[in-house]
Amino acid sequence: MKSMILTLIDNVLENLAVLIAGLFLVSLTYFRFGAVDRWPALVARYLALVGTSFFALAHTAPLTPGILFDFRMVPVALAAQRHGRLAGLAVAIPVGIYRYSLGGVGAIPSLVQLVLLTWFAAPSGVWLHLPTNQGLPLNRLPWLALRLFAVANLALFVSFALANAPWKTAVSAYISLTVLSTIGMLLGHIAVQTRLTNLARTQHYQTLAFTDALTGAHNRRQFELDLEAAAPSTHLLLLDLDHFKSVNDTYGHDMGDQVLQAFVTLAQRCVRPDDRLYRLGGEEFGVLLSACPPDSMTHIAERIRAQMERSLALEAGLGGKALTVSGGLAVMGEDVMAHADQNLYLAKAQGRNRIESGLLVGESAS
Ligand code: GH3
Ligand code: MG
Ligand code: MG
Repeated sequence: MKSMILTLIDNVLENLAVLIAGLFLVSLTYFRFGAVDRWPALVARYLALVGTSFFALAHTAPLTPGILFDFRMVPVALAAQRHGRLAGLAVAIPVGIYRYSLGGVGAIPSLVQLVLLTWFAAPSGVWLHLPTNQGLPLNRLPWLALRLFAVANLALFVSFALANAPWKTAVSAYISLTVLSTIGMLLGHIAVQTRLTNLARTQHYQTLAFTDALTGAHNRRQFELDLEAAAPSTHLLLLDLDHFKSVNDTYGHDMGDQVLQAFVTLAQRCVRPDDRLYRLGGEEFGVLLSACPPDSMTHIAERIRAQMERSLALEAGLGGKALTVSGGLAVMGEDVMAHADQNLYLAKAQGRNRIESGLLVGESAS
């Protein structure tokens, strides 16, 4: 008798190890936080969930002939809980088929168990939810999991009744399976949650690393990456606020900051969705203008300049005084930065509040 219990404990521990290893693999299939992962990751997650249940079932611990004790239900519950009823069902179906093929008195009740589990594990009314989000807080999960397995495992009593097993055995099996599955689900949830917390943190710091803290525009680091990857037809527009030092000197540094923020707000409105705005430093900005004829580039640049002249001071809360910018345009190429800078220098030299693109066509005037 004692050795039978030890064998059972041995099998259960082995099953738990399989479950934890499998759910660790499942956690590795999450790559994006707050969005839907690409389809290869979704397929890998599905396979990892089904595979974990299959492995658990392959290392099952028979309680009495025909009644199997394992953690196959945990991946099903996790899939349904995170991604909805259809996701749970998609994992449950192959697992159910495998269990059914093993036969025994528990075969049919275990299918009922899987259906109950899928239904109650998913948040109510959620059929399919693919975006990755934070999920349930850890303190709510144990109770939810306990209730869930307590309901789904009621099917065990049918198996035991069919096997004519003593009710005491049925009750102890029911309690152990419910408690152990709850622990399994908790461990699986922690594995996924740890991965997601790391992903969310990385994404957050990445955004911070590539964003200008004052204005919210992309920063120089992002600019350098994008410049390197830009298509040959992309244009670079360098913009520099005119006489900005005197804004600081006259109205104070805080007002200067406000002007920089207002500049970004207005410039974002002037560019197209595919164009990107960067703060390159101080009161100097860059815009990478995605492909379109050179004429249109000049138009966009002119539109930004005119908008600033018209609205920058107002937007920043400076009332009537006009604030202006100068700009230099250049087409992508080896010396794009130098060309845009030369054109900007030209715009400043020719009286400011203008856009120069002298080197834009033909590149021969260098
Ligand atoms: P120009 O028309 O020739 O461009 O003249 P300018 O005064 O705009 O240029 P200058 O390079 O002489 O001065 C730039 C000023 O920008 C000096 C600096 O204090 C100010 N500045 C740089 N970064 C910030 C910032 O983050 N906030 C504020 N308020 N001012 C800044
Ligand atoms: Mg300036
Ligand atoms: Mg400057």
